[in-house]
Amino acid sequence: MFKNPKVKVDRVSYQKSYKPFYEFDLTPEQLENYLDEYIIGQKEAKAIIATKICTHFHKVKNFLLREGRDEVVGFIKNNIFIIGPTGVGKTYMIKLIAKKIGVPFVKGDATKFSETGYVGGDVEDLIRDLYWEADGDLEKARFGIVYLDEIDKIASSGDIIGPDVSRTGVQRALLKPLEETDVEIKVPPDALNFLEIQDPQGRGKRKKIVLNTKYIIFVVSGAFHGLEEIIKKRLNKQKLGFLSDIEGRKDVKFNYMKLVSPEDLVIYGFEREFVGRFPVIAVFEALTEDELFKILANPNSPIMINKKRDFKVYNIDIAFTNEALKEIAKMALEEGTGARALARILEKVLIPFERTLPSLSLNYLGVTSEIVNNPYQVLNSIINNPQDPKWREFYYKALKEEEERVKEYLYNRQKALIKDVSFEITSERLKFIFELYKKEDIELSQALEEIISLWKQIKTYEQSFERRNQIRILFTEDAIDTILEEIIKTDFGVFAYCEKVMSRLEYTLNIIKESTGKNLFFIPGWALKNPEKFLNQILAL
Ligand code: ADP
Repeated sequence: MFKNPKVKVDRVSYQKSYKPFYEFDLTPEQLENYLDEYIIGQKEAKAIIATKICTHFHKVKNFLLREGRDEVVGFIKNNIFIIGPTGVGKTYMIKLIAKKIGVPFVKGDATKFSETGYVGGDVEDLIRDLYWEADGDLEKARFGIVYLDEIDKIASSGDIIGPDVSRTGVQRALLKPLEETDVEIKVPPDALNFLEIQDPQGRGKRKKIVLNTKYIIFVVSGAFHGLEEIIKKRLNKQKLGFLSDIEGRKDVKFNYMKLVSPEDLVIYGFEREFVGRFPVIAVFEALTEDELFKILANPNSPIMINKKRDFKVYNIDIAFTNEALKEIAKMALEEGTGARALARILEKVLIPFERTLPSLSLNYLGVTSEIVNNPYQVLNSIINNPQDPKWREFYYKALKEEEERVKEYLYNRQKALIKDVSFEITSERLKFIFELYKKEDIELSQALEEIISLWKQIKTYEQSFERRNQIRILFTEDAIDTILEEIIKTDFGVFAYCEKVMSRLEYTLNIIKESTGKNLFFIPGWALKNPEKFLNQILAL
């Protein structure tokens, strides 16, 4: 009577380019730590989202490795529903996660679906974009992340009597892709050769490319104006004691969105089935003035790095004082568009300088609060007297404060940033990291990684020297700093530089080993600069 349920084997081939997926081993806390390097505030949302996305990828991995044995249980994904105002890091967070995990990310706007009335069509287009975003790698596209913004705009509006057909229509059209559906990738004929996707049997027919959405994670977000009132109303009805406690406290502005329930979203205008596709709801908070300042002060901030790069194209280095950043944060808060306002204000303040400084002989700019408040006035003074030592003072003050911010950041996050290596951030190394960070205008974490990578190469050199000579050498910490300094200054490779300095010692160290049996030598920093003195000293022992 009963058919034996056929277990569908759903495997990704190991030979495919997406092998790293099988090595996915991040823990939620590791992912959260990574986000901490970039995202200011949003602690709760960060924890929820990092955890659920991490679990999603582990689950996918296990599910695929188990070769479908779990078919009865099925695969339920944790699509994510985000509530929060504009410019507070919603997209940024998901983009960072996609980058860290190495999966493609696409973003679309839910209002587009309702405007065109092209129900169903557009969401499939968006899913198709994942394939292109993954450079035509279907295996990779299968695990991508689709982000749909302005989802609140497809809630049926309460003013309309009867169901709001087009909006609920869009919600319904989304149900299938949110769970599982096949989307055919349309490939322009002239791209076929390039992508090598002709029929393998050579019958000349085009092979169909189908992207299944089963493992694609969907993140939807919106500001949800008016939802707070619905939540409050429900809470009032439930006569919860703590509500009057919250209301009574004038000092704290409570974010009612945190208490949202699926039922509230139904009242807001979502179909129950649609809400049901999102077991995870994360709430983002509006950013405070202090958080806006911290976003600017974060050495990994893309907003700041990009602004600095704009000036770097003219060989001009810019640095900001703390006061200048605080002033910008204050102005941004007034605009009410979250961190988006920061970039706009920076542009407004700095465009006149970006236009004029390249024609002057000044290749630095210290951005102070005076500049932020009166850009044109200060610019005129600079034009009138570019040689005034005041401008240099401004710059050095800003540079010093920037270095302090970097120092504080590294000290606070040392443990999370430097994982399983015994690398230490000495004050000398901090200087190198800062120099590299300024020279290249890269993220601080990248500068740190580069220094750690050089440090690891020095350690590898020690081992290779030992293999070659059966003599163990250990560079002391200050010797390592000397090597790092020379490499950064001269663009020498680690190995080439170490060979150069050690070639002067190698012969004598071998003779000492032969005659005394000593085969461990500590090499201090000064020995690299004065090898003869070093050899004389050990020969004298
Ligand atoms: P939205 O919340 O509307 O999706 P985004 O995430 O796109 O806004 O934010 C715009 C930009 O502002 C980001 O690219 C990022 O540079 C900056 N930003 C926003 N929120 C934060 C935050 N909490 N921490 C650090 N940077 C942020």
